[in-house]
Amino acid sequence: MSLTLFKGIQFYAPKQYSFPYFARKHVALYCTVKNLQNQTEKQLQGPPKNNPKRLDNILKDYEAIIGIETHVQLSTHTKAFCSCPYTYGAIPNTNICPVCVGLPGALPVLNSKVIESAVKVSLALNCKLSMTSKFDRKQYFYPDLPKGYQISQFDIPIATGGYLDLDIPVELGGGHRRFGITRVHMEEDAGKLLHTGNKSYSQVDLNRAGVPLLEIVSEPDMRTGIEAAEYASELQRLVRYLGVSNGNMQEGSLRCDVNISVRPIGQLEFGTKVEIKNLNSFSSMSRAIDFEISRQVILHDQGQGDQIVQETRQWEEGGQKTITMRKKEGLSDYRYFPEPDLPGVSITDNYVDSIYKSLPELPEMKRRRYEKMGLSMQDVLFLANDSNVAEFFDATIAGGADVKLTTNWMMGDIAAYMKNEKISINDIKLTPHELGELISAIKEGTISGKIGKEILFEIMAKGGTVKGMIQEKGLVQIVDPQEIEKMVDKVIADNPKQVEQYRGGKTKLQGYFAGQVMKESKGKANPKLLNKILFEKLNAET
Ligand SMILES: [Zn+2]
Repeated sequence: MSLTLFKGIQFYAPKQYSFPYFARKHVALYCTVKNLQNQTEKQLQGPPKNNPKRLDNILKDYEAIIGIETHVQLSTHTKAFCSCPYTYGAIPNTNICPVCVGLPGALPVLNSKVIESAVKVSLALNCKLSMTSKFDRKQYFYPDLPKGYQISQFDIPIATGGYLDLDIPVELGGGHRRFGITRVHMEEDAGKLLHTGNKSYSQVDLNRAGVPLLEIVSEPDMRTGIEAAEYASELQRLVRYLGVSNGNMQEGSLRCDVNISVRPIGQLEFGTKVEIKNLNSFSSMSRAIDFEISRQVILHDQGQGDQIVQETRQWEEGGQKTITMRKKEGLSDYRYFPEPDLPGVSITDNYVDSIYKSLPELPEMKRRRYEKMGLSMQDVLFLANDSNVAEFFDATIAGGADVKLTTNWMMGDIAAYMKNEKISINDIKLTPHELGELISAIKEGTISGKIGKEILFEIMAKGGTVKGMIQEKGLVQIVDPQEIEKMVDKVIADNPKQVEQYRGGKTKLQGYFAGQVMKESKGKANPKLLNKILFEKLNAET
């Protein structure tokens, strides 16, 4: 922990945080932190933007080594060691109790759902589970950590040595990747500092203190910003599929700290590691990493490699660059020791088996299954991205609908509608059964594709059935040749000039006539039959 931070902290006199501090509706304010912004050092210059070609040439000679530590907030009903609930955005200090604010004598009791979620995630990440593990105290001082220590896991994490498979989208270069997972461990979250408008002091909200987290540490296997962002995005998908977290980056439910170093290609020794924090979207993650790689490579290239120091930097969205947040003053001594207030954690084979059997089909398995159905990687990634979308797709094809047609409707009009209305697939009124009905009604020729589209949008918004809507609105496709012939005759009689032009060689006009007949039929004429009859009539009466 940086010493400069201590200098900025001033404590209020005890009378200002006396008894009412623990009243549930009282907003606690137990210390203030002076603005530290003026204390930041002169920032290093970023990569020159005026000579991208030269930059590309330098980048070719270097390799970036990227590892990611991810904190996933578990969406359990109650916190890790007490019965307080946690609701994002709740009034500060309303979800707290003596345990999570660290009152002397208060004892933690482990929430079994935390272990269950940790085992689920570890199995999904192909890790080796520790059948016996324990909790440890990690001591450090910070205003949002009321106990003065965090309950975490140190030398025996719940799981180690796994991997995560993913597919890079085609537009980002494509390809399958496997990234190693070093460890998964359980710990509790700290509170939050709320910085005031004039930045002269900060307030402390302890609602988040004691909320369960899983820390997932990757092997340093990523080489580019895209790979790192795709890894984080796959982790998000995984925890959402498993239902253990909402994975929402904006709410801080999924937080990534990225470690980056660069080295000349061929060199075995690692370069100096720099950490980037405060990344709140996958795209900022990707851009921050690419900026940081360029910054380090340029310093190496200019013989200033010694200016790359072990530090924590933050991404500045406005300036599109990373800046120094704090320099590391050597490794922190957290004085870990086993948490004396909690028993060891023992899990049995039966327990692990029962959780393993309860796992849903995970994103990677889904993608491979969809690929075997003959779908393109673009289709596969779209469908498997969201488990609810995948479930809708699976239910539709389980009812016998054509795989490719179902995919097309879902990626086309249905996706566009959801995007427009800013809703999810669970919010639309269309059911997988009705999508299947719609597809077969078009395939069988009962309705035209154009009418099918109209029905689709109406059902998505208001609900109803395809059959009901076809009957109610008289939308059945006209397949009676005599009826179509009548309409063709009428259009030919109404457009003598165009008929003359057509017969004079301007055969492109077939499209014009077809449009007129379709209009006459209110979009209900079978297009194939219409064109056949029209062609015969236009060419026969010469
Ligand atoms: Zn509590």
